[in-house]
Amino acid sequence: MKCAYHPEIDAIGTCVNCGKGVCVECKTMLGGKIYCQPCADEVFAKPVKRAEDTSGQGALAVVPSEVKGWNWGAFLLSWIWGLGNNVYIALLSLIPFVGIVMVFLLGAKGSEWAWQNKKWESVEHFKRVQRTWAYWGLGVLLFGVVLWIIYIILIIIVAAAGA
Ligand SMILES: [Zn+2]
Ligand SMILES: [Zn+2]
Repeated sequence: MKCAYHPEIDAIGTCVNCGKGVCVECKTMLGGKIYCQPCADEVFAKPVKRAEDTSGQGALAVVPSEVKGWNWGAFLLSWIWGLGNNVYIALLSLIPFVGIVMVFLLGAKGSEWAWQNKKWESVEHFKRVQRTWAYWGLGVLLFGVVLWIIYIILIIIVAAAGA
């Protein structure tokens, strides 16, 4: 038998994975077994099995600890964030007085609810999307603050002009 990768060289063994002949040069020993180079790479590259992604399964969804934590996007954008993340309970934030409580609840529990109600590709995907929401929330907040400042300045100008 010849080496599968060097047709001119005699094989010294066969790969336990694909059965191809391997020469001294190609042989890779893994756990006392012979592998050819491509198979050895594949075995090495095999990702460590990740925890199962249960997002979107409602109460059955197991919320990874990385997902938990304060959610600025949910806190700042409340019901808008809720619509985008399938957290419809966020609409309660539109109710006067109750809404204030809801906004803080969203900040504290929003991430968990979003994980349970919507299917996410991975924790990384979830975090990436939530980060974008947080930036938007911050943008809206800053915009609101700027509007208020302009409003107050206008009032001062008008009052000064009237005096
Ligand atoms: Zn092989
Ligand atoms: Zn070879």
